[in-house]
Amino acid sequence: MNKRKTTLQSIILLLIAFAMLGTYLGVMISSIVVSKENREKGYLSENQVYAEKLADTTNLLFQNMLQTLEVSAISIYPLTKNSDLLSEELSQVLSSTNFFNSIFLVDKEGEVIRSAPHLDLEGTKIDTHGVNEAISKRKPLISQPYISKVTNKLIILVSMPVFDIQGEYFGFLGGTIYLDEENSIKDTLSFHPNHAVDLYVYVVDSKGNIIYHPEEARIGDNVIENGAVQRVVEGKDGRIEITNSKGTRMLAGYAYVRTSDWGIVSQTPKNSYIQPSLDLVKQVGKVTIPFVILVFFISVYLLKKFVSPLRELAQYAHRVAEKTTTKRPEIPEDYFEVNELKHTMFLMVDHYRSQIQMFENEATLDPLTGLFNRRTLQKRIHEFNEYSIILFDIDHFKMVNDTYGHLMGDEVLKFLSGLIQKQTRECDICFRYGGEEFLILLPNTTIEEAYQIAERIRKTTEETISPIGKAVTISVGVGNMPNTASHHNELFNLIDQALYRAKGDGRNQTVKADQA
Ligand code: GH3
Ligand code: MG
Ligand code: MG
Repeated sequence: MNKRKTTLQSIILLLIAFAMLGTYLGVMISSIVVSKENREKGYLSENQVYAEKLADTTNLLFQNMLQTLEVSAISIYPLTKNSDLLSEELSQVLSSTNFFNSIFLVDKEGEVIRSAPHLDLEGTKIDTHGVNEAISKRKPLISQPYISKVTNKLIILVSMPVFDIQGEYFGFLGGTIYLDEENSIKDTLSFHPNHAVDLYVYVVDSKGNIIYHPEEARIGDNVIENGAVQRVVEGKDGRIEITNSKGTRMLAGYAYVRTSDWGIVSQTPKNSYIQPSLDLVKQVGKVTIPFVILVFFISVYLLKKFVSPLRELAQYAHRVAEKTTTKRPEIPEDYFEVNELKHTMFLMVDHYRSQIQMFENEATLDPLTGLFNRRTLQKRIHEFNEYSIILFDIDHFKMVNDTYGHLMGDEVLKFLSGLIQKQTRECDICFRYGGEEFLILLPNTTIEEAYQIAERIRKTTEETISPIGKAVTISVGVGNMPNTASHHNELFNLIDQALYRAKGDGRNQTVKADQA
């Protein structure tokens, strides 16, 4: 009973807990999803904006480089006659900016006139991709990256044509950038102002070769199969979600650098923004958990409030079943269903109680006379140690039945039972012992007293008109415990014999039983 009661309560508690956990997880998951989606959009656009900004900066950087070379190229021809002044000029150009790793003047045959820093290359003919391109095109140029045969380094050549006094092409003034070493492009690209998002930038040339990458080992790798790189080498700006060569999902923005025909890609690994989402959830959790706990305890309180009337009813039912109480529980009238249940239960209890009473009466009482039956005598006789017994039998009762009918006989039996109840004391217990035999148990009564009472009953019967219109008579046997016998079976036998004697001696008389 108790077990079942707690189970109901714990199931409801469990349901509340699940419902709350479900709601809580729902809120958390949706906040992760919303935050993730917002972040995705934010990362994509921030990467694109950043790539475009870097492309602008790079364009500007190359324009500045070309301008720096142009200023010098216009006035450098006269200095070719004086190698010291030329050296000074080249050193001046090199040190005035941090654009180039080296600067040199080359004539139209590809021979180095002078370089800064001084590399001992004067008079050497340089036959590299960059130099040949600059000489053949005779215009301001930014080369694609190539390995210089002179320095054996991956370089870019920025070149500006130089003309002599007659306006004839003399050669070019070139600035080199060593991509593998500290250089101005790297300085520009590796400087990331504080970004809300976690991103990194790399730069590719027109063929998809990496020129700049935060991991230096990757410089020179070809990544043309990358979706963002494919678009940017076509001269496009934009944003895209891609999987990189290592299988990592990336949100990328890309922008084309017009001056050098390069592409800049700024990207964010997808897993780097899952963490901020989890952090957000943790933060939301910290704020909401106290509320969740509060709501939980309120629910528990309300649950107990609602369940306790049911619990009381259940306990009451339990007590009724065990017959330990008849006191009805006080149950608040607030809840309709509980109240209905209560009333129904009380009705049921009343019904079964009266039913039980009926069965009990049937078992203990004689239905015709309302006196206790013989079975009850067996039980009650043991309650007393000293008592007297009066046993009597109606004389010629068969004749009453035969003459007046069985129903009238019944009336006589009822009449006699009323009579003996009136003629006995409060403490005396009357039984219908057999068909027309009655027995009276007189606790703590001597045989003399019992005899007196028996005689009174006999005489009153003889003198009272019965339902048949005249008096009937009775024959009586009287005995005492423990005077007559020491055991009640023996006592009953002796009283029976006394009654038999009374019949034999002419009826309508009282006979004391012989002592055993
Ligand atoms: P006696 O005792 O004086 O010797 O004669 P009697 O006629 O009373 O003899 P007996 O004890 O043999 O008869 C008892 C009769 O009581 C028999 C039976 O029909 C009748 N009787 C027993 N129980 C009932 C009852 O409940 N109602 C009626 N009407 N009669 C009953
Ligand atoms: Mg009889
Ligand atoms: Mg009789």
